[in-house]
Amino acid sequence: MSYSTIHINPISPAPTQGSVLVIYTGGTLGMVYETKGKQLVPFNFDQIFEKIPEISRLTFEITFLSLHEPIDSSNMSPAIWVELAGIIEENYDAYDSFVILHGTDTMAYTASALSFLLENLNKPVILTGAQLPIGVARSDARENFMTALELAAATYPDGKPIVTEVCIYFNSVLLRGNRAKKKESSNFNAFISENYPHLANAGVRIDYNFPFLKLHGTDEKFSVHKDLDTNVAFLKMFPGINQSVVRSVLKIEGLKGLVLETYGSGNVMTDNWFQNVVSEAINNKIVIFNVSQCYGGRVNQGQYQTSKFLKKAGVISGSDITAEAAITKMMYVFGKETDKGKCKEMLAMPLCGEMSV
Ligand code: ASP
Repeated sequence: MSYSTIHINPISPAPTQGSVLVIYTGGTLGMVYETKGKQLVPFNFDQIFEKIPEISRLTFEITFLSLHEPIDSSNMSPAIWVELAGIIEENYDAYDSFVILHGTDTMAYTASALSFLLENLNKPVILTGAQLPIGVARSDARENFMTALELAAATYPDGKPIVTEVCIYFNSVLLRGNRAKKKESSNFNAFISENYPHLANAGVRIDYNFPFLKLHGTDEKFSVHKDLDTNVAFLKMFPGINQSVVRSVLKIEGLKGLVLETYGSGNVMTDNWFQNVVSEAINNKIVIFNVSQCYGGRVNQGQYQTSKFLKKAGVISGSDITAEAAITKMMYVFGKETDKGKCKEMLAMPLCGEMSV
């Protein structure tokens, strides 16, 4: 894939403080209304700079890079996640931080996937986007983008970055990327993180929630994992789900892992047929990861009679992980490990702050 780049040198008389690489992938932020087809479509990123001339007043260097064909994030894929991780790898030493402009629909999936792929990350990777295109008068694009840039460039007095993980910045809050969820498509507060506190609130000042930020890591070398295994699926429980649905999903050829979206603290129906299908699947080496349909709280297999069986059968508890982080974690784990026992161990423990145990 080829990329276009634009360099912006600050016009401010202050000395430049760091460098940010902005990667534009598409999304509403950079869309225009196509009157012919009466729909929103991505447009060329050169026009983003025209729309936010204030960028040149910032005191750090910004380089723009765009995917050759910007996408609506509903077309996001593991191949593009690996590509984004590769861009960060190639530019890791040359830039102090990274901002990814991304559609909101799958932003939480991308943030989660990148949090696993970017191993030993010690620099900020901040995803942001907008609910209204940048050209619209009431657009949230300008504030989201400008603050994401400031957060990416923020350092401690010793020059080390304050943020050293993959985050989402949106509507005044900075969230850990693999804890975030899109919850809103009409109002500006598109993302929540029910099970992990905000990392920062951007009002008149930016207030960081220091105890909850990932600490600057050890000196282990940054590396990028590039193999994601997509032999995974979701199965969402609902009253009335029937045997053939559950059986068909668990019989998918090549299936390695299933994220079972359960009720409340990890509960399911106790019908014999359901227990048999789950046990058979586990005997057939399918890994089942128990993730709650609730946004807040955590899975506690065994708390109710309706989850005891899952624990006994060998279903892995997802604790308070989001569905987005769970499915991308499975892709990562199966892409990294072939040993099913090791995969289960990795799923059960936090790898980069995505779940509490
Ligand atoms: N459909 C758009 C996307 O995810 C929505 C957005 O950007 O808010 O690319």
